[in-house]
Amino acid sequence: MAIRDYIRERFMPHIWCPGCGHGIVMNNLIRAVENLELRKRDIVMVSGIGCSARISGYLDFHTLHTLHGRALAFATGVKMARPELRILVPMGDGDATAIGGNHFIHAARRNIDLTAVIMNNRIYGMTGGQYSPLSGRGKAATTAPLGNIDQAFDIADLAMSAGASFVARTTTYHAVSMIKILEKAIMHKGFSVVEILTQCPTYFGRKNRLGSAVDMMKAYKTGTTPVGSEAKKEDPELIERGIFVEEDRPEYCTEYENIIKKAMGVH
Ligand code: SF4
Repeated sequence: MAIRDYIRERFMPHIWCPGCGHGIVMNNLIRAVENLELRKRDIVMVSGIGCSARISGYLDFHTLHTLHGRALAFATGVKMARPELRILVPMGDGDATAIGGNHFIHAARRNIDLTAVIMNNRIYGMTGGQYSPLSGRGKAATTAPLGNIDQAFDIADLAMSAGASFVARTTTYHAVSMIKILEKAIMHKGFSVVEILTQCPTYFGRKNRLGSAVDMMKAYKTGTTPVGSEAKKEDPELIERGIFVEEDRPEYCTEYENIIKKAMGVH
């Protein structure tokens, strides 16, 4: 199929600001699905609220645009009812780790077969630039004009600690390798987390004087390093990108199916 066959053109033009990274992520999600030769009808995309969550409206899969922070809860319900479908869950950092943080750690703990794509732009863009759990101490936001006093945490570390069996990080600068990571995440049997560092030039970039969208993407090039590289030992400030965990572990729907069989006396 052509890429445009995945787009709901009736919802164009999109709402994203010039230079926003979300378009790169949406484009690469399409390319990953196309490369995997998956059928549109076998994919359900579930999102909550936020600029990133608009992806579910723009793409022509089965889609659910749900409540803020609750995308993984809805996705869990869909997966339990129709485990043969592939469920993609695009979320922002606030959506996934603030109001949806509880759902996030428990989806990881259960290792349910969902693909969580977390676009981390370190701010709430849609609602006007409030700081998120990923903004980081000292960063400026609409609600932190003198500097944020909250510490950030690491999404990949959190996902691994909570039990996700596939965890990766990439950036909008690394668009080509992002496609391969998304392909692996989509095909992985278990809870997959792909954190994507993505620029919000309108709020996080402007408030923190990070320059243009291009400048922000260049910072992803210079400020990250492949996981396990020597560069990280020399400069601990570098952010690692790549696949951190990719393991076979018991998957929740399969385990649940086994319980049903036991209850029915089927062995
Ligand atoms: S506010 Fe930020 S995240 Fe939202 S569309 Fe604009 S650049 Fe993208």
